[in-house]
Amino acid sequence: MNDFLSYYRQKEKELGTEKVTETQCPFCSVQCTMQLFEQPRVGRKNYKVIPKNNPTSGERLCIKGLNAHQHALNQERIQYPMLKKNGEFVRISWQKAIAYIRERFSDIQRQNGVDGIGLYGGGSLTNESAYLLGKFARVALTTKHIDYNGRFCMSAAATAANEAFGIDRGFTNKLSEIPFARCLILAGTNIAECQPTLMPYLTKAKENGSFIIVIDPRETATTEIADLHLKVKPGMDAALVNGILKVIFEKGYFNEEFINERTNGFQELKEHISTIQLDNISKMTGIPEDSIRLAAVKYATCSTGMIFTARGVEQQTDGYMAVRNFLNLVLVTGKIGKIGCGYGAITGQGNGQGGREHGQKADQLPGYRHLENKEHRKYISKVWGVNEKDLPRQGVSAYEMIEKIDTGEIQGLFVMGSNPIVSNPNANFVEQSLKKLRFLVVVDLFISETAKLADLILPCSSYLENEGTMTNLEGRVTLRKASRKSPGEAMHDWKILCEIAKAFEKGKYFSFFSPEEIFNEIRVASRGGIADYYGITYKRLKKERVYWPCPDHGHPGESRLFTKRFRHPDGKGKLISVRNIFPKERTDNDYPLYLTTGRVISHYLTGVQTRNSPSLRSRDFESFLEIHPDTAKKYKIENHALVKLTSKRGQITVRSKYTNKIREDTVFVPFHWGDDQNVNRLTHEALDPTCKMPGFKVCAVKVSPFIDLTLN
Ligand code: SF4
Repeated sequence: MNDFLSYYRQKEKELGTEKVTETQCPFCSVQCTMQLFEQPRVGRKNYKVIPKNNPTSGERLCIKGLNAHQHALNQERIQYPMLKKNGEFVRISWQKAIAYIRERFSDIQRQNGVDGIGLYGGGSLTNESAYLLGKFARVALTTKHIDYNGRFCMSAAATAANEAFGIDRGFTNKLSEIPFARCLILAGTNIAECQPTLMPYLTKAKENGSFIIVIDPRETATTEIADLHLKVKPGMDAALVNGILKVIFEKGYFNEEFINERTNGFQELKEHISTIQLDNISKMTGIPEDSIRLAAVKYATCSTGMIFTARGVEQQTDGYMAVRNFLNLVLVTGKIGKIGCGYGAITGQGNGQGGREHGQKADQLPGYRHLENKEHRKYISKVWGVNEKDLPRQGVSAYEMIEKIDTGEIQGLFVMGSNPIVSNPNANFVEQSLKKLRFLVVVDLFISETAKLADLILPCSSYLENEGTMTNLEGRVTLRKASRKSPGEAMHDWKILCEIAKAFEKGKYFSFFSPEEIFNEIRVASRGGIADYYGITYKRLKKERVYWPCPDHGHPGESRLFTKRFRHPDGKGKLISVRNIFPKERTDNDYPLYLTTGRVISHYLTGVQTRNSPSLRSRDFESFLEIHPDTAKKYKIENHALVKLTSKRGQITVRSKYTNKIREDTVFVPFHWGDDQNVNRLTHEALDPTCKMPGFKVCAVKVSPFIDLTLN
């Protein structure tokens, strides 16, 4: 025995000491930092994660961050390019894979025109990869069709902030100002499960005496800290804000001086609000009049206050208008541009902010420039060294690209860092459309639901391997370090794009050897734009997280926006009248319940990474349906039983979970699973007319027990 132990110890000694990787969590927009320790042991390796201090979330990590390495180290990762032959994926070389892409995409473009190819990116890509994907679409493939999954994340809030303030940076203040707000409104956000490491800011605010109002159809871990929970009917947020404005106007609690000096559109808004009836709002929203009054008085009369919105408000077919109404509240009370006063759109994806600034969006050029703006086109074509007339025009949004695939207008698709079958609404239609493609390329870590349909899968590197910058929810640019080698032949996203560009004889525009070189081009491309990164360098980012806009090297970056001016040419914020709009699909006798969707703490987006992390998967290994016990009884649904959930567009099977915390007219299903548990098989395809956000958060469904035919 002793011999064995000494042999064992000797072997461990020979294996050497632990290796440390410093990195950032690949998941949500907080971008917590960590150290990963790898300890060699006989026959295995031990991994340990320790949080590392950063100015956004301190030394905190949530369960996702603590286990993120598990998917990156998973042996099931794709390690080689794989081509589908006779329905099976077979390994091929990178050389053949790239030659094949060139051949198939060129064929399609010859027959269908350059716009016959679409590109579909993601909000988790680094700034460098997102920027390069946009450039690759416009310069290498010269197609106008590119958009990304951030369309489903940030488009409503981004469009609203651009229109109201003249700039879209998710948070107008630093997070550390939250404890100074005497009133907080959290609308459609479940921070406790989606960005758990931000919770201490809210608890600190509460300790300081802040009055916290949470607007959500469900009771969640976040509503537990609320002083007032407004359990609004799904999709009725804009109407609820009209009610709050009604009370503010009636009581004269608006900030006249601020309105006169710093806003436009007040008179029109005031006239509109005079037509609003509070009892009507109460009926529409399901919120008692007294609660609406209390919310209005608390927010309007406190000395400081902040409003945060997230997908519960934004993923609606009136998402843009609903956010605009929250911004109306901010502007009429003058609660912005001062300590403890501001607005924040709580970004979902890791690089939800940076991913929407540098050109992977259908209408966008780097630095938040616009593809249809003559001056912007001129500037970027000069940076890229191409003719302005050769830059494609604006394309269409993510779901509209799927519609163009269905009609045959787009016949080839290149997907990078996204799983559109699970993240788009009306998933059955999406799946049928993708099956019509003549050539589908998917770049991913795992064989996702979308990758299963691909003709060619390309393996990419994970967050532990791919260095690059991310921009967090505060608008702070961060440098994510990486030092591990990718498994097999997996390649960095940006490198894959450079290699394919070479095959299209566009290599001279993509001659990058490191992410830092790409970032230096972003700096120039964004210079003078709304999202100006010019003053940010890798050297600076090795020492600090820097806020944009940062126009030159000596600039500290702006942590608090709008202290004196908004970013419209006249320096004023814009107020707008917002109608009470009902969701596109209402309940009826056949589909009597509202379905709303969201996240759970252990999973991220479509679950491709977290479902491949054993610890996270074991916490929530299947989807579920939250249902009120009284509603369940009505439809003969037992607790923990398999049930069918059906909408006009499809059906899924999930396990029931009784809870008193949900409205009786509403059920909830998380969106992290695919196949038979893909809740987006049920959701409605209608889009917000302004920002093209689908109305994920409300559709009409029916629920029934799952009948096991084998028992008959
Ligand atoms: Fe931090 Fe978000 Fe990662 Fe959790 S998921 S560790 S909150 S970055």
